[in-house]
Amino acid sequence: MNIETLAIRATHITDANASAVAPPIYLSTTFEREPDISLPHGHVYSRTSNPNRDALEHAYALLEGGKVGMAFASGQAATATIFQCLSPGDHVIIPDDAYYGTPALLEEVMQRWGLRYTRVDMTDIEALERAFDNTKLVWLETPSNPMLKITDIQAIASTAQALGALVVCDNTWATPVLQRPLDLGCDVVMHSATKYFGGHSDLLSGALIFKENNHWAEKARRVQALGGAVAAPFDCWLILRGLKTLALRVRQQSENAAKVAEFLSQHARIAAVHYPFLKNHEGYEIAQQQMKMGGGMLSIQLKGGEKEALKLKSKVKLFIRATSLGGVESLIEHRATAEGVHSVSPKNLLRLSIGLEHPDDLIEDLAQALQ
Ligand SMILES: *Cc1c(COP(=O)(O)O)cnc(C)c1O
Repeated sequence: MNIETLAIRATHITDANASAVAPPIYLSTTFEREPDISLPHGHVYSRTSNPNRDALEHAYALLEGGKVGMAFASGQAATATIFQCLSPGDHVIIPDDAYYGTPALLEEVMQRWGLRYTRVDMTDIEALERAFDNTKLVWLETPSNPMLKITDIQAIASTAQALGALVVCDNTWATPVLQRPLDLGCDVVMHSATKYFGGHSDLLSGALIFKENNHWAEKARRVQALGGAVAAPFDCWLILRGLKTLALRVRQQSENAAKVAEFLSQHARIAAVHYPFLKNHEGYEIAQQQMKMGGGMLSIQLKGGEKEALKLKSKVKLFIRATSLGGVESLIEHRATAEGVHSVSPKNLLRLSIGLEHPDDLIEDLAQALQ
């Protein structure tokens, strides 16, 4: 099945009670037992399972081509869960460029519980091999945040697995519409469903999808059930609704972003445009192989440093000055400001999340702000 059809079918639920085409929301925290103590629908208590979460988790597995899907209270809760499946003394390798919360979680929380970590340039396979040291998990993020570096998923996954590590890919920016890391050899996919999955900047949620129903998936299930960072029924319902238009949105956002990137790459006041489908991008060849389109995200670096970046940000009229991404509205932000103490982002960098406005209007807005 093509992803468009899959997105509609995987999110459809047969409602046994009322034959409703749009599913009901089960807010109930608890579920009734039969006199013989059996549970007719398998649910006991909503921290362990809930009908809306079950439906979403089923859809996640189908969309990413895995066996097990899990829905969390946020992307960070999903990330924390997979780290909590490791033990003190274990080592994790993460990319030098990654969503700032991933290293921040390792540095401020996980390290105190005995996890060690190293940041590596994932375009350098030898550097990855050299960094191995009782390494149990290798984390990928491609395109990366905020530099849009491209990692060769297949190459890194096979190298890391040969050395005995679990390979997890943060697929938030690409989504399964553009890239399916499990098909390219990864063991686990992570998502901030807050972004493209929800798609409307109105919910916080996260996902893990496991290629196999193995001991890692089982462990993660237990950490989730006991830790309790589960997605609420209403959020699950909203994400299921969002997923139905995921392919449409992501394709249009990619098309718009490619046009904006092209415009900015020609502009005299821009020092660099980071967008994987621009021909001069360092990861262009690999991006062409593993991604269907370039995605809706891009970063730019301005000539004249931080001052010029902040000036551009203050002058836009259509773009909304806010953090986050993946919604229908275009956003612009100065990453160094948003990231704070852990920031390694260049000071002259602005990150753009391209929405569903007409690309000509977005380009016109940037053109006037750059004048
Ligand atoms: C937003 C984001 C996260 C964190 O997800 P939350 O839902 O904010 O907890 C992780 N990775 C990437 C790439 C993100 O964009």
